[in-house]
Amino acid sequence: MASVFSACSGCITSAESVLITQQSHQELLKVLLNNKSSATEQKVVVVSVSPQSRASLAARFDLSSGEAGRRLTSFFKGLGVHHVFETSFSRTFSLLESQREFVERFQRKEQDSKSLPMLTSACPGWICYAEKTHGEFVLPYISTTRSPQQMMGSLVKGYFAEQQGLSPQQIYHVAVMPCFDKKLEASRPDFYLDEAETREVDCVITSGEVQKMLEEKNVSLNDVEPAPLDTLFSSVSEDEFLKHSGSGSGGYLHHVFTYAAKQLFGEEVKELTYKTLRNKDFQEVTLEKDGVVLLSFASTYGFRNIQNLVQKLKRGKSPYHFVEVMACPAGCLNGGGQVKPLPGQNPKELLQKVEELYMAERPLSPEDDTRVAELYQSWLHTVGEDRANELLHTRYHTVEKMTNGLTMKW
Ligand code: SF4
Repeated sequence: MASVFSACSGCITSAESVLITQQSHQELLKVLLNNKSSATEQKVVVVSVSPQSRASLAARFDLSSGEAGRRLTSFFKGLGVHHVFETSFSRTFSLLESQREFVERFQRKEQDSKSLPMLTSACPGWICYAEKTHGEFVLPYISTTRSPQQMMGSLVKGYFAEQQGLSPQQIYHVAVMPCFDKKLEASRPDFYLDEAETREVDCVITSGEVQKMLEEKNVSLNDVEPAPLDTLFSSVSEDEFLKHSGSGSGGYLHHVFTYAAKQLFGEEVKELTYKTLRNKDFQEVTLEKDGVVLLSFASTYGFRNIQNLVQKLKRGKSPYHFVEVMACPAGCLNGGGQVKPLPGQNPKELLQKVEELYMAERPLSPEDDTRVAELYQSWLHTVGEDRANELLHTRYHTVEKMTNGLTMKW
């Protein structure tokens, strides 16, 4: 079930719904067709698949997540896509930047009353709501770190374009995501490259739309020959995908917590103990020493829990240093763009299956990803601090600045 306030359920402006409908699998097919028919207007087509979408499609076809990834690679390449990447790779950048941002905010908490709690920013459903309803009050708390989708945007239209000797405009970049809100995120002016006159992510299609593409082509993923995985921007080892520990929404709480415990208090945390509060979508993790709470983290999923959190913040009653905020109940694996249950299939059982498939992969800690560390060295350290900051971070806006007089449906 989708969030009640995200684009998945339609609480958006009319201009935003146009932006959403402009991005569909038909657009991708048009570009691929054009590549076949025109010799001059060729685009290099890149598809970046999220691990949540992979798990959703794997559940539909009774495959492992890795097998679904290999067959999706084959399917997309068969259609004329040139490269199929995977957003766990770009998520490693998001996790590393979130870890550093948190420690920096924690260290200035005495001077800046709005440095904590740091609220995650990878969910555009939550960002959309925060900008529209709580504007100036809540925005300073939100992490400036880019989401995995938009980190991939930086990688593909920045580093990759450079390496291939292409202009960003010559690349058509598609992200496969578990939700419709990611389409809105891709079309934010902050992710438009003015000079190159192109977006970092040109089109977002949902897991459900990939399923529709397969149906329209009369193809079952079970009958597709698996292809070797593209290793350039994919978190893989020996043709197997690697995952991040923690939640199915990116594991932000997990990774920021373990890093902060070590960096700030010298504590090595091997396993996190989650305490369920009002419901399973509101959980807490604390680091205590000698009866003193050193770190207090929470994950808050779904509209009701988020509202509760914001009210607590407004009353100055939030005890948290960090909150992983996600708009959908149960998080991204349950996103509104995931493959729908078959007739008679129990949605809860389907979600459980998707969660199991997602969790089955071998974990890799962001700090241990040598290929990402190498990109920090060879790319980000060479572009200068300001440019690196632009490539890895973003900013948020109050509604007035964003919608410029458009009628809101709120
Ligand atoms: S929780 Fe995940 S799937 Fe749901 S709106 Fe946010 S980013 Fe999309």
